[in-house]
Amino acid sequence: MYYGKPPVGRFAPTPSGRMHLGNVFAAMMAWLSVRSRGGFMVLRMEDLDTQRTSEEYAEVLRKDLQWLGLDWDFETPPQSQRTEDYEEYFEKLRDMDLLYPCYCTRSQLHSVNAPHLSDGTYVYPGTCRNLTEEEKAAYQREPAWRVKVPDKLWKFTDLVQGQYAENLIKHCGDFVVRRADGVFVYQLAVTVDDGEAEVSEVVRGMDLLSSAPRQMYLQQLFGFKHPQYAHVPMLLAPDGRRLSKRDKDLDLGELQKHLRPEDILGSLAFSAGLLEKAQPISARELAGEFQWEKVSPEDIYLDANMLAKYL
Ligand code: GLU
Repeated sequence: MYYGKPPVGRFAPTPSGRMHLGNVFAAMMAWLSVRSRGGFMVLRMEDLDTQRTSEEYAEVLRKDLQWLGLDWDFETPPQSQRTEDYEEYFEKLRDMDLLYPCYCTRSQLHSVNAPHLSDGTYVYPGTCRNLTEEEKAAYQREPAWRVKVPDKLWKFTDLVQGQYAENLIKHCGDFVVRRADGVFVYQLAVTVDDGEAEVSEVVRGMDLLSSAPRQMYLQQLFGFKHPQYAHVPMLLAPDGRRLSKRDKDLDLGELQKHLRPEDILGSLAFSAGLLEKAQPISARELAGEFQWEKVSPEDIYLDANMLAKYL
């Protein structure tokens, strides 16, 4: 906990399309948590994937957040401009002798020999951990770089999901921090960005819960404090579908044609248990109602009445 210091939260959107209601919900919760306690908000564009992201989308995201009344105090440089900083932290891992090059191909990684977890992700079996210099040289191609993980249980109390614990050895094995094309991966970038901005709480979608232990491990290696985590439930359409950017599902551009920000925020807050009834409400007013204890970890089915005309 951060005694006496105002909390620092963040929005970390990927500017690859219009926000859908799931993104709006996560942003709203991050904002409420911080603003209800007089804290600061940081905005950061997660544009590591330069093929899918663009400054045009980033600009639309800023406008959408402003339209919703979810403001921020400063914007840190986008991830695509931070390669040199990530490089420094990558070198720290090398100095700690925790990195090794991995030449495995995609098909090797997904082969039947690799143990798979129930969610379809695989546990890296350490194939390239002990390659000799000759073996490395024989590949004649750029490797990806993996960080060795310790046999340790990473435990934390999530404000929504409760106790969570994971041993990286069983969950993912040594994981990639830099791809063969030189691009740093999300886990490293997000750890460096949150750490340098002194983010004290990370509020984001439940789909990222299992990333937290990898980030906690990197935080420890880099000397950053662990933030408080809150992984908010996923939003489902009334028929049980997950919302997705790809389907242009209920994106904000569509919703703005018919609804005011207060309608959207009120409906999301009601669905999440923050309000007793669905009523229009501004972000500022909602901050007065906000308490993490009211938020259940169950997936949230969107309020069919509000959405009926768009589905
Ligand atoms: N950029 C990620 C997203 O838009 C969020 C990452 C995070 O919050 O750590 O889904």
